[in-house]
Amino acid sequence: MPSESASLSESVPEPPPHDPVDQLYRELELKIREYRPKDDLTALEKAFRFARKYHEGQMRDSGEPYMLHPVMVAHILADMRMDIVAMEAGLLHDVVEDTSVTVEQVRKEFGEEVARCVDGLTKLTKLDFSSAEDRQAESFRKMMLAMVEDIRVIMVKLADRIHNMRTLGYLDPERRERIARETIEIYAPIAHRLGMGKVRGELEDLAFQHLEPDAYREILEAIESRRHSNQEFLNEIKQAVESELRREGIPARIDGRVKRPYSVFQKLRRQKITVDQVYDLMALRIITDSVKNCYAGLGVIHNKWRPIPGRIKDFISIPRPNLYQSLHTSVVGPHGQTFEVQIRTEEMHRIAEEGIAAHWKYKEGRKGPAADDQRIAWLRHLVEWQRDVQDPAEFMSTLKVDLYPEEVYTFTPRGKVIVLPRDATPIDFAYAIHSDVGQTCVGAKVNGRIVPLRSPLRNGDVVEIMTQPGHEPSKDWLAFVKTSRARNKIKHVINASERIKAIEIGQKYLEKEARRLGVALGKATKGDLEEVASSYGYSKMEDLYAALGYGKFSARQVLVKIAPDAVKDESPEPKPGASVAGEPAVAGVTQPASMPGRPRDGDAVIKVRGMDDLLVYRAKCCNPIRGEAIVGYVTRGKGVAVHSKMCPNVQSLMYDVERKIEVEWARAAEDAFPVRIVIHTDDRPGMLNQLTSVLSDENTNIRSLEAKTEHDQDGGVVEMTVDVRDKKQLEKLVSAMRRISGVRDVERLFN
Ligand code: MN
Repeated sequence: MPSESASLSESVPEPPPHDPVDQLYRELELKIREYRPKDDLTALEKAFRFARKYHEGQMRDSGEPYMLHPVMVAHILADMRMDIVAMEAGLLHDVVEDTSVTVEQVRKEFGEEVARCVDGLTKLTKLDFSSAEDRQAESFRKMMLAMVEDIRVIMVKLADRIHNMRTLGYLDPERRERIARETIEIYAPIAHRLGMGKVRGELEDLAFQHLEPDAYREILEAIESRRHSNQEFLNEIKQAVESELRREGIPARIDGRVKRPYSVFQKLRRQKITVDQVYDLMALRIITDSVKNCYAGLGVIHNKWRPIPGRIKDFISIPRPNLYQSLHTSVVGPHGQTFEVQIRTEEMHRIAEEGIAAHWKYKEGRKGPAADDQRIAWLRHLVEWQRDVQDPAEFMSTLKVDLYPEEVYTFTPRGKVIVLPRDATPIDFAYAIHSDVGQTCVGAKVNGRIVPLRSPLRNGDVVEIMTQPGHEPSKDWLAFVKTSRARNKIKHVINASERIKAIEIGQKYLEKEARRLGVALGKATKGDLEEVASSYGYSKMEDLYAALGYGKFSARQVLVKIAPDAVKDESPEPKPGASVAGEPAVAGVTQPASMPGRPRDGDAVIKVRGMDDLLVYRAKCCNPIRGEAIVGYVTRGKGVAVHSKMCPNVQSLMYDVERKIEVEWARAAEDAFPVRIVIHTDDRPGMLNQLTSVLSDENTNIRSLEAKTEHDQDGGVVEMTVDVRDKKQLEKLVSAMRRISGVRDVERLFN
């Protein structure tokens, strides 16, 4: 990180010819010329000058000019044989983050592809892994891959990390430790996932050196002290293998090498041994021309030296999830010393070292949308390879987030990753942290700004939940939460609080009804009531009260069981919902003859399937009429409300499946249902007459009618309530009205 801000001066003096940064850039051009002799480097040079201008005056912690860093990153990308766009992005990777340059400026100067890469890199830079909790590394890795649209962003990020790791020594111990840990937990595994063995190896060894300096030194010393004998030994077996292979006619290139410090360290840890007990610090790599010769080579090795059982691994027929292919074996060498042999083809070797980068490079001379084609080709290639892979789950799940973004990765303010389904909201986030946080959630800040609780979260969002003790979840939340955890918890709380109310209402209702009928409810009847409860299948009195409160049956039905005589003398019971616990009575509750002059719209018309003693009424909000699809909802204290399935309230009511109940229209067809309709008309004389004559043709009774003139719309509105027998009759009526010339629209009112 630079310690000074960039100079914005327009006139940067031309650097002297011995400028080390300039020199380094010229070397970069030479390096690229080697593998891309025909590429035009104008844009690259422009990117170099642009970045240098804006980083002017900034320094690295090493005291060197800042610009050395982006040029070195581009060098590493050139070593990876990346394309010009990737290297432009490498040169520009810190300008948006560390200077006044904007992404728009980069887009204008260098085009869409480069801008997209730089933007992606800037976003990754903003992720802070330092405060991440344990075992979250996997989520971070997935998130990084999920966030990048262009895989070159990852390439540049890895190159950036390699250079930072190479120069880590200049930082203070605390930052050094943090960056090294991040490297070993996040970046090295990403390189591994992408099959980039070389990058992974370098990152691991650099990080290891800083994280475990003592172990690192010990291993290095052990390797060093045996260097001479190791080298001699390697030369000896190398020659032996070479001559054996030549005799069999197998062309091969043979590499003798000492294993990497970190891989030795892992072996020590895995096998709980000391460095003196590690014998196979050395490995031989045979690179040949064909798969057939890989297996032939293995035969030659096993002929010459005894293989160690259980150490033969065939990653050719079963490649690793990251597409790695090779044959591995460990054998007992000439002086009883064991060593490992890897056998693979050139192509396999290239993929083992470079991974995704090997697939990335496109053929010389391709222009235009080549980059995208490449990426798609690579993915297709990958999918093809996956067919032959036995356990591709690990690798594919990583790529899945890239290909099918169905998860969203968010953070707590302290850096914990919360993985949620796509379009999850702050409420889901709150419940994912803790149910109590969800229950008492009153608001949310996303990236420091207050947002509505229903707003969908995006990758990388930092979410802060505001809570208020005692606050309760809202029923409305059910409309937008995405996780079942949040949904269940909200339902649970709502049901519990409704149940408490139902118990209270049920108990008062029973007491009131008992008083009215002169039935004494005291200690003497306690046992009787408990018996009634158990006859209904309830183990507790509370359950009986709740059932009364929900209106599953009436107080009378209960009381008749404990005092049959007192109840029998009484005729009809008053509405259970009426004035119980101060609740307003609901119009339309089943009451035979309770409303003279109005058609009966109670249980004679609607039946609850399988239950005859339930109180049923048509919900006022939608007033369903015969023939319409209906659904019942057990209310508290008011019986069963019957709604039209089309009713907008149904959706929000039916969150509680247990209170949903099947209802049907009873057979009796003589009843009529009041329906409110609104007719929008042209404002002309005689309109009302025509409307009423349609109604009388249909033998329909008009309960009320109101006509108004709408001056601003040059029309009239007629609102009326009419009695209809069923849905069919209503439809007939409406279409007859619509045929009247001058009628613009006919609507049924639900409220
Ligand atoms: Mn950087």
